[in-house]
Amino acid sequence: MLVDYHMHLENGPKNLDYLKKFVENAERRGISEIGISEHCYRFKEAKHLLDNPWTRERNVDSLSEYLDLLNEAKSLGWPVKIGIEIDYIPEAEEQIREFVSKYQWDYVFGSVHWLGEFGFDLKENLSLWQKYDIDKIWNEYFNTLLKAAQSGIFDSLPHPDLIKIYGFYPKEDLSEYLDYVFSEIKKTDVALEASTAGWRKPVGEMYPSLVILDLIRKHNISITLASDAHYPEDVGRDFERMIPILKKAGFNEFVRFENRKRIFEKL
Ligand SMILES: [Zn+2]
Ligand SMILES: [Zn+2]
Repeated sequence: MLVDYHMHLENGPKNLDYLKKFVENAERRGISEIGISEHCYRFKEAKHLLDNPWTRERNVDSLSEYLDLLNEAKSLGWPVKIGIEIDYIPEAEEQIREFVSKYQWDYVFGSVHWLGEFGFDLKENLSLWQKYDIDKIWNEYFNTLLKAAQSGIFDSLPHPDLIKIYGFYPKEDLSEYLDYVFSEIKKTDVALEASTAGWRKPVGEMYPSLVILDLIRKHNISITLASDAHYPEDVGRDFERMIPILKKAGFNEFVRFENRKRIFEKL
């Protein structure tokens, strides 16, 4: 079986008709289960976890409606899992932990999109990259990713080299440092995500890169599978391209979740 565990309903109405389009596209692409992983900052109930001018404008949805919708889909027998994509902010770790414990999830993602004030993957912040030292930003990104893993809050960490999104690479050779980061991540037992979304971004490469895939494999870290679809038509997109790459890199299984319990599936 295949699953796609990363997608967002944010660009459409929160109702069964819209959700059904995601389920149908998954079926069409031979994907037997999907996980919805809405951005946490969308939810009013989570406003306190990340409150800046950019998220404030988008803090408009109701978490209880989201959970009700997904539970309704489940009760209809739809192959849908309940996830959430939380921005990992080191300073908010305790609040995030408390928030996660209040609701029933199938899985919880911890993503690094913000380094302090810098929402580095946002198109509107592209010009800000000039202000930063790229070597430092890369270090800070992977330090934060490691902290997210060590927090023990999350089941998987999405797009684990998102920092490459615009193709700004460090001058410094990071191979030793990255080997250390992923060996430490292994100790936390969190999974990492393989995602086709990078092919639809300026970098034009899947997340993570082949180099990092090799490190993940070398350290025997579990993976989750993702399209990061923001529209129904992107569900399962490019899986036929990604799966052979994963197999070639030596992966023969992936994980999915039920009630935060990890289930291994053959790739
Ligand atoms: Zn993300
Ligand atoms: Zn996402």
